[in-house]
Amino acid sequence: MRFTADCLLLFGATGDLAQRMLLPSLCALDADGLVSDHLRIVGTARQELDDAGYRAFAREALETYLPDYRKPAIEPFLARLHYQPLDANNAAGFADLAAKVGPVQDGLAIFLSTAPSLFEPTIAGLVASGLAGERTRIGLEKPLGTNLATSRHINDAVSSAFPEERIFRIDHYLGKETVQNLLALRFANVMFEPLWNAAHIDHVQITVAETVGLEGRVGFYDGAGALRDMVQNHMLQLLALVAMEPPASFDATAVRDEKVKVLRSLRKVERDETVTGQYRAGAIGGAAVPGYDQELGQDSDTETFVAIKAHVDNWRWKGVPFYLRTGKRLYERVTEIVVQFRPVPHSIFAGRGARTQPNQLVIGIQPAENITLSLMAKEPGLDRGGIRLREVSLDISMPDAFAGPKKRIAYERLLLDLIEGDQTLFVRRDEVEAQWEWIDSVRQTWDDHAITPKTYTAGSWGPSAAIALAERDGVTWHE
Ligand code: NAP
Repeated sequence: MRFTADCLLLFGATGDLAQRMLLPSLCALDADGLVSDHLRIVGTARQELDDAGYRAFAREALETYLPDYRKPAIEPFLARLHYQPLDANNAAGFADLAAKVGPVQDGLAIFLSTAPSLFEPTIAGLVASGLAGERTRIGLEKPLGTNLATSRHINDAVSSAFPEERIFRIDHYLGKETVQNLLALRFANVMFEPLWNAAHIDHVQITVAETVGLEGRVGFYDGAGALRDMVQNHMLQLLALVAMEPPASFDATAVRDEKVKVLRSLRKVERDETVTGQYRAGAIGGAAVPGYDQELGQDSDTETFVAIKAHVDNWRWKGVPFYLRTGKRLYERVTEIVVQFRPVPHSIFAGRGARTQPNQLVIGIQPAENITLSLMAKEPGLDRGGIRLREVSLDISMPDAFAGPKKRIAYERLLLDLIEGDQTLFVRRDEVEAQWEWIDSVRQTWDDHAITPKTYTAGSWGPSAAIALAERDGVTWHE
């Protein structure tokens, strides 16, 4: 049933995500007239606040995190906000929450921006207080479990109260413009799709590099590590979008059907196809930074870096490696996808001394949003000493190409889709579970072969073994 919610109930309303992303996104949607005048937003967390107190809290967050041009929108937005204190572990408190939400006319959208350990009691409380009715949908933040078994447990708990068509699992990468643009690039242009296969693509690289370290996420990160924090969700979603077959239409079922097929086709990685690392003290941008164990205050085996040579075992991608790499305290903050095409089958210029380089498509996701296609061109001249060919790049910088539209936070798109009920950019249960199944198998390979993190210096591109992982195949990481 498609309905537009007229109330948004936000759990974890005082948290970091709410302050930095959710409140600014909702305020921006409001400023642009994208949500109905009737939309009420009810925040909840344990902190004892009343409506006025929460509005003051939200005002401070918005003053901090909204760009200046949006700030005039803050005051009118605050009027939408209400607040009810609640410990989600206290079942009795949900009746007051339901009273605060009040009668909902069109529908209720709930967003759980709390630790997943609270999902079960929260859902039980929602059911008992009548807040999980047919006109309620629920959005869930990651992490959805730490392995397949715990993920299933969470999914079972949620699906005991909500059918799949009313569960919205968030992977905020899917809210990013350039990630959606990958689909436009592949499926709204005629020239890429005929080449998008093993016959013409040599390999694909996906890099998610961060310069930050633990950033106060000590408790969470050390129990998770780079594989669960980044690869399980964001990187596998990117891989699925690159590798999937063309869906018949841009709708939730068609797109997710194609992604899940890719995720299920991932081959178990072998011992020599994965490298893990952990940063030691070094320098980022000229400033000294401590090592992971120093930040943590104790020794740890948690990986802050992982590189994997993955394979999608299907007809289209036979023999095409997908090199995945992510880490903290790396040289540069960059998220990008590199599609490396094969060389031309025969160079007609070889006899004239010219060398051709294979084409390369680079899709920059952050911080720069751009798409660059490298092509071979002839250097101008009379060619008396032979023909010279050079790579030139066809560059589309998204902010330049689309100067008008505002740059939006990924959560703006996702919150609006949650309110309006469009699941296309949310992750379905079978996808999450296929992702975990593969991630568990990677961890199993680490365990079976006693693969432990190699050290790397903060500010580098990770352990040298990760460079060797690609170089063994004659591949250089794109940097
Ligand atoms: P956070 O800063 O620790 O906030 C947690 C929120 O939950 C706070 O509002 C907290 O308020 C509330 N809370 C804690 N215990 C509660 C309880 N027993 N009952 C009711 N409310 C309770 O966490 P966060 O960074 O905002 O992250 C929220 C979720 O999003 C987590 O699952 C996280 O993994 C995920 N996530 C976060 C980010 C990010 O950038 N921050 C990114 C991706 C995913 P009180 O203490 O007042 O109760």
